[in-house]
Amino acid sequence: MPELPEVETIRRGLAQRIVGDRINSVWLGDKPQTFKSPPQEIATALEGAHVCDVRRMGKHIVIDLRPSKRNQRRLPEAPLERQPVRAKRAGGKPGGASAAGTQWIIHLGMTGSLQVTSADADILKHTHAIADLASGRQLRFVDPRRFGRMWVTSGFETCGTEPLHINEDDFARIFHGRATPIKSALLNQKLLRGLGNIYADESLFRAGIRPRRRAGSLTRQELTRLYKAIREVLTEAIAAGGSSISDYFDVEGEPGLFQTQHRVYGRGGEACVRCGTAIKRIVVAGRGTHYCPKCQR
Ligand SMILES: [Zn+2]
Repeated sequence: MPELPEVETIRRGLAQRIVGDRINSVWLGDKPQTFKSPPQEIATALEGAHVCDVRRMGKHIVIDLRPSKRNQRRLPEAPLERQPVRAKRAGGKPGGASAAGTQWIIHLGMTGSLQVTSADADILKHTHAIADLASGRQLRFVDPRRFGRMWVTSGFETCGTEPLHINEDDFARIFHGRATPIKSALLNQKLLRGLGNIYADESLFRAGIRPRRRAGSLTRQELTRLYKAIREVLTEAIAAGGSSISDYFDVEGEPGLFQTQHRVYGRGGEACVRCGTAIKRIVVAGRGTHYCPKCQR
């Protein structure tokens, strides 16, 4: 499943290639679960719209659109059942969407990917959406396992804080008094958004903290180490273009390289890079979890 560094890599690739372009037309496939908004609503919002920006919020890709004039009046507000209260507040925030703006939101799920290709490139199996761009290129959404979702809204907000933006005091505060294992707390998207299994394991290893430790039991010193480790791991992973462990590819179809630098994730039974002890694999929060029993306390 793509985590923050993979989604950020895709965001950067998309931003370079599609900002300033215009969506001429859209083709949407017939697999209904991919589309969280009715396909007709997505098509109406996208067709003729200019791509103003591509942002990332947690694991969501947010494509800011300026709708074509003819569509402006027909754009729906964020459906209330999905965006309670927040949808309305977000509109006026600095850096948020302009009142007239629409956002095309894409969550890649487990196997989703976005490609920017020439219009004549072969269409891969499991392609669920194709946007024809004025530049002659196409933006395609491919998702074999179909856990990915796309929808259109305005004033998109999502809970949690970006781990690369939070300050150390706020970071320490979110774990205070929590009885859950620190690994579960790191995966909780309502606390920090974008961290997943790989980067939680790698960060805990670098911080020397066992994944099963109660989050609330971490000392300030340990929280400082964890804060720094998360920033370090995410920054290095983004620089390496993310980790390719299953179906992850960037917008040009290139894999990431950070998987070669994993120190514990996926290395159960292998020797710890620091002390040589065999890496343990356990299950925490229903997820395979890897740690060194000697280096992590
Ligand atoms: Zn070790």
